[in-house]
Amino acid sequence: MTDAIHTSECAERMADVLRELATAAIDAALITPGGNLEYLTGYRGSITTERITCLVLAPGRPAVLLVPRLELPLVQEALAGDLEVTLVTWDDGQDSLDRLAALLPDNARRIAVDEQMWSERSSGVAERSPAATFVSASPILQRLRSSKSAAEIEALAEAGTAIDVVHRQIGDWLRAGRTEREVGRDVAAAILAAGHTTVEFVIVASGPNSASPHADLSDRVIREGEPIVVDIGGRMPSGYNSDCTRTYVVGEPSQEFQRLYSTLLQAQRLQCDQVRPGILAQELDAIGRSVIEEGGYGEYFVHRTGHGIGLETHEQPYVVAGSPVPLEVGAAFSIEPGIYLPGVGGARIEDIVVCQADGGRRLNQESRELRLL
Ligand code: ZN
Ligand code: ZN
Repeated sequence: MTDAIHTSECAERMADVLRELATAAIDAALITPGGNLEYLTGYRGSITTERITCLVLAPGRPAVLLVPRLELPLVQEALAGDLEVTLVTWDDGQDSLDRLAALLPDNARRIAVDEQMWSERSSGVAERSPAATFVSASPILQRLRSSKSAAEIEALAEAGTAIDVVHRQIGDWLRAGRTEREVGRDVAAAILAAGHTTVEFVIVASGPNSASPHADLSDRVIREGEPIVVDIGGRMPSGYNSDCTRTYVVGEPSQEFQRLYSTLLQAQRLQCDQVRPGILAQELDAIGRSVIEEGGYGEYFVHRTGHGIGLETHEQPYVVAGSPVPLEVGAAFSIEPGIYLPGVGGARIEDIVVCQADGGRRLNQESRELRLL
């Protein structure tokens, strides 16, 4: 995370969670590695490692972070500087769940757990706290994380600018005769060169592969006249992520594809224009879907409109049919409708948009017109 976010916000965020826990009559929250831990402490940890790391937050008590002893240097380096967190280590050979259960307040009756806590661990803590009931920490954390501060929005804007640089240069790598994998390798290097610390994903989906929204890179050779969906993103030093899709054609696209694309462009533009505080996620989804349906492609828009973005590429709020969640000032999310004709090809246009008091602010600026290389 950037120092600005580190020092000014983590303590405030932790205080917000503690206040919400008290309001909800929850005695403790267990927060494990991932976006929630990073949001609260500046330390992300690893979601997949077998050694447990867990933040214990309990109203009226100091915050405690349980960490494996060998990872203590990592934690000390990443933790927000002036954050008041007591570090407690456990050693290989000790029962880490016993250590964790001992950090809970005596007589804790309601305990909130991180949605990404391994079930083996939450059930292990539950066995050691038979009197407690366990609830999800998500309602509290998701609500707080969905409303981005000015510093978070600037971090996302910086990420947007960095990924725009990569799309702007795409003609250097995307050419007929090269394979998706070759192009993907160059794009990944460019994502890092543009200032990201990690490459989170690279989709270069050509021809019929472009009809598969989450296509993997393949050894398929790119040919003239076919669409190529390029959906790329990475994490910045701030911890905040970029995610942007543009669709390209090497040479001349077919007339049918141009018609498909102009329908998609109209849908995406209308959705971005309609972002405003209070609009429901499902309403925003429906705006794009109805344009695509009117164009005759309704059955080929096979996914939601978008996802929230921040410390994780996909987080709340989701812009999806059936979601009655109103979009609020400070929400940051993608608007990425797509049309996919199986076996033929597809297109997607994706920008990150922030909901502001006066409407939507796009954080990606590269042209959304079909770009011919
Ligand atoms: Zn994307
Ligand atoms: Zn996305």
